[in-house]
Amino acid sequence: MTTKLRSYEPATGSLLWEGEFSDVAAEVERAASAWMHWAAKPVAFRIETMRRFTNVVRANEEKLADLIARETGKPLWEASTEVAAIIGKVDISIAAYSERTGHRRLEGAMGARQALRHKPHGVMAVLGPYNFPAHLPNGHIVPALIAGNGIVFKPSEKTPATAALLVELYHEAGVPKDLVRLVIGGPEQGKALVEHPLVNGILFTGSARTGIAINRALATHPEKIVALEMGGNNPIVLWDTPDIATAATIVVQSAFTSAGQRCTAAKRLILRENMMKPVMDELTKIVDRLIIDHPHADPAPFMGPVIDNQAADGLSESFLALISMGARAIRHMKRPFGDLPFLSPGIIDVTPVTERPDIELFGPLIQVVQVSDFDSAIREANATRYGLSASLIGGSPEQYDQFWANIHAGIINWNGPTNGASSAAPFGGVGVSGNHRPSAYYAADYCAYPVASTEAEQLRASIGIGLAAIDTSSMGD
Ligand code: NAD
Repeated sequence: MTTKLRSYEPATGSLLWEGEFSDVAAEVERAASAWMHWAAKPVAFRIETMRRFTNVVRANEEKLADLIARETGKPLWEASTEVAAIIGKVDISIAAYSERTGHRRLEGAMGARQALRHKPHGVMAVLGPYNFPAHLPNGHIVPALIAGNGIVFKPSEKTPATAALLVELYHEAGVPKDLVRLVIGGPEQGKALVEHPLVNGILFTGSARTGIAINRALATHPEKIVALEMGGNNPIVLWDTPDIATAATIVVQSAFTSAGQRCTAAKRLILRENMMKPVMDELTKIVDRLIIDHPHADPAPFMGPVIDNQAADGLSESFLALISMGARAIRHMKRPFGDLPFLSPGIIDVTPVTERPDIELFGPLIQVVQVSDFDSAIREANATRYGLSASLIGGSPEQYDQFWANIHAGIINWNGPTNGASSAAPFGGVGVSGNHRPSAYYAADYCAYPVASTEAEQLRASIGIGLAAIDTSSMGD
C-alpha cells in the first residue's frame, strides 16, 4: 500500500507535490491540546494575529497564486483573485464576529446584569474541495480562529500542495503550530476526522454526496456542529430582453468560468422558445472565441482544464448519455489537448428529454431547456433537489419579484451571473445545497455558540412565597 499522496498538475500531467498520509488522531490531539490557550487570549490578540496573516499572504501572493493555478489548472489571473479573497476574508470576519457573535449586556432585576457572550466550540474539522483549495477552507478557518477554535484542516486529496502552503502561512503569521493542523489524505482520513470524539464541529465544503454521508455518519452526534456547503444544479432563466449579446455574455460567465467548476455555476439555461435561435447564435459566437489553455499561457486563457482525466471522462460520458436520452448537441464537449483533461464548453438542448437527471455535472457544460411561459420557466428552474444560486436575465421588475419570491435558492440574482457571490454577504443554499448554516459573512454564526448569563457582584436571595414561618415555641428551652 502506498503511504504517499501525490498531486499532479492537470494542465501538464506532471507531478507537483507528494507527501505522507497523516495520522488523523495525532493531529486532532495536537489541536485539542492547543485550542483552550488560544480561546483564553483576548479577542484583540487573535484579531491581531489574523491581520499579520494577511501581511504574510500579501508577501507570498505570487507564490500562492502560482501554486493554485498549477494545482487546479485555473488561469493565473483567476488564481490571483482567489488570493485576494483570502486577504479580504480577514476584515470581513472581524466585522462579522463583532456584529453576529459579539457580546451584549442588559440590565436585569435588582441591579443584576444579563450578559450575552459567545464561546468557541473547540476543535473544528475543516474539509475542503478542490475548486477553491485555499479561499474556501480559509473562509471557515479565519472566522473559526477569531472565535477561539482550533483547526484540523483536511484539504481535497486533489489539492494538498496549496493546503500545505496555506497552513505554513498561518504558522508564519504566529498562529500556534499545534492550533492549526493539516491532515493529508482522502475520504478515509476525512471520515476518521469527522468521527473523532475530540472533534467538536465539522465545517465542510464539497459535494452533496459527501455532505450527506457526513450527516449520516453523525446522526447520533447532535453535540457536533455541522456546516455543510454543497453543490448546485443552478438555473439561469433568460427572459425578454433586447440585449441578447450581453445576456449571452452573462450566460458564458455563469456557466464556463473556472471551466464550470464552481458550486454556483449555471448548469441549466431556461429560455422562452422563440428566443432559442437568437440566444444560441450569440452564445456559440462567444463560446467559439473562448481561449482554453494552460493557466500560465499568453494570451491569458478564459479557462483551463477540469481537475483530472477522471472528471473529464465522466463529463464526456454524461454528455453522451444525455444525447442517448434524446438531447441535441449545440456544441460538443471536445478534448482539445489529447489526453489532458481540457474540455471545450458543451451546450446541449435537453428539452426533448422527459426524465432529466438532477445531478451536478461539475464542468463546462450547460443544458438548455425551452419553455413557453414564465410560470413554466420558474417551475423548470425549481425542478431540482439543489438550491444554491439562480439568476434571471432580462424580464420585467414584476417578473423579477415573482422569480425572487418563488425560486428555491440561497443566492438569487437579476441581470448578473449565478456565480461571483460576495464574501461580505451570507453564502449558502437550501435543498441538498446546504444545511441552513450559510458561510461567508454568516460563518461567524457556526464558529461560536451563545451563552446567556445572569451576573451580580453581591449575593442576594429571598424566598417570597411558600416558606413556613419559623417555629419560635421551642426557643429559649
Ligand atoms: P468532495 O465531496 O469529493 O470532497 C470534499 C472533501 O470531503 C474532500 O476533502 C474529501 O476528501 C472529503 N471526503 C470525501 N468523502 C468523505 C467522507 N465520506 N467523509 C468525510 N470527508 C470526505 O468534493 P470535491 O469534488 O472536492 O469538490 C467539488 C464539489 O464541491 C462540488 O459539488 C461543488 O459544487 C462543491 N462546492 C461547494 C461549495 C459551496 O460553498 N457550496 C463551494 C465549492 C465547491
